[in-house]
Amino acid sequence: MVDRRARLAALCGIACIVAACTDTEAPSEPAPAPTHGAAGIGDAYYPEAGNGGYDVDRYEIDVRYDPGEHELTGDTTVVARASQDLSQFHLDLRGFAITSVEVDDEPAEFTREGAAELVVTPANPVREGTEFRTRVRYEGTPVVANRGQLGGNGWYRTPSGGAYVFGEPESASFWYPANEHPRDKAAFSLTATVPEGWTAVSVGRTGKATTKDGWTTTTWTEDTPVASYLTLFAVDKFDVETATLADGTPVRNVFSPGADTSRAAAEHTPRIVEFLESHFGDYPASTVGGVYLDTNPGFALETQGTPTYPLDADADLLVHELAHQWYGNSVSVHSWADICLNECFAGYATWLWAEETRDADLDARYRTQVANMSDGLWSLPLYDMGAGNEFGAVYQKGPVAVHALRLRIGDEAFAEVLRRWPTEHAHGNARWEDFEEFVEQVSGEDLDEFFQAWFRGTERPAEEHLHPKPR
Ligand SMILES: [Zn+2]
Repeated sequence: MVDRRARLAALCGIACIVAACTDTEAPSEPAPAPTHGAAGIGDAYYPEAGNGGYDVDRYEIDVRYDPGEHELTGDTTVVARASQDLSQFHLDLRGFAITSVEVDDEPAEFTREGAAELVVTPANPVREGTEFRTRVRYEGTPVVANRGQLGGNGWYRTPSGGAYVFGEPESASFWYPANEHPRDKAAFSLTATVPEGWTAVSVGRTGKATTKDGWTTTTWTEDTPVASYLTLFAVDKFDVETATLADGTPVRNVFSPGADTSRAAAEHTPRIVEFLESHFGDYPASTVGGVYLDTNPGFALETQGTPTYPLDADADLLVHELAHQWYGNSVSVHSWADICLNECFAGYATWLWAEETRDADLDARYRTQVANMSDGLWSLPLYDMGAGNEFGAVYQKGPVAVHALRLRIGDEAFAEVLRRWPTEHAHGNARWEDFEEFVEQVSGEDLDEFFQAWFRGTERPAEEHLHPKPR
């Protein structure tokens, strides 16, 4: 902390001197000196999340992990484009001893700050607009998961001696250096080497495994941009089942040794994808399937194309995590304040599934949930809920609010919203405000008061918003 403040103070001093010189005696304008990339990407809730000054194009990750020793050796290259002249920039990495850092094949200086900041000073400044490659070699014992609002982020062990690392909002930085914020999505490739007899699993398409000298290597490639928290590394004595959807999308279901209770749910995958496509448009990920764990970390996560499930997954949980492939993964949040764009809609997908498969009366469900909603839950906004409160209301109040929107704008406009939103923002990022504007455009209605009452407000909405007149 002290180091960082001193550094910032020094930076400010230089900036002030430059500004003063320019004001008083600089008739010509010299090229600006390269500056430090920001320690954060600009998320108001998490000032240090992600980093500034560049945009990652792809991660090229090579890890060797031995579950018996619980030791990882990593060699990751981050290919990025500078958005400013950079004399220094940050990556996010937690734990490990760093062996070396190179920028464009030249050794670079580096320091560690706080829990996750790796500060890199390249031998030569990186010029704005250029692509540069940062190679980080590291090794050591991974950092275990800490309890968080959703569960934990970081590394977990399995009963059979395996391990996995996943979590939201952070997980990539627990195993590779990253720009850890969903605003900077990038292509992903992994070469993973584990002792023979173990299987490594990640996201994207996998290549053929090769075994040499008692170690098995597999490759994983995801060319569509992926937010770093949606990548995964899992090692266990997995049972792997593969198939293909009718359109050729590869299906890979991966079961931990004690995960048999989830097999029945996994069999619903093709039907669920088809059902969700009927509402949201074409399936956006390059693969589909799941990693079925034999432990309960406290949550499931929509890791891209291959969600990660705790013990006893059921079809509703698959619907939720697969709905995220559109709402959250293809269309990712701009800031964590926008999380309702992910969770409110993945939650509502399970309502639609109940309507389809169990003939559920959603209006009746809505009325019951509105009647039973506690004052505490009404008091939690679904948008701009404050740092640390992102997941407080989105799971329970979120789907109810989405149904209220359906009642307010009518089935036809609602169906159009559900389908067009993920299509128009495919593989990008969006803000909650963008969504409000989009719904007003599709419905042709002024919905400011409605959105205020249901999504931004902190009390039970007025009757006119709770029970809009049937359309
Ligand atoms: Zn979710």
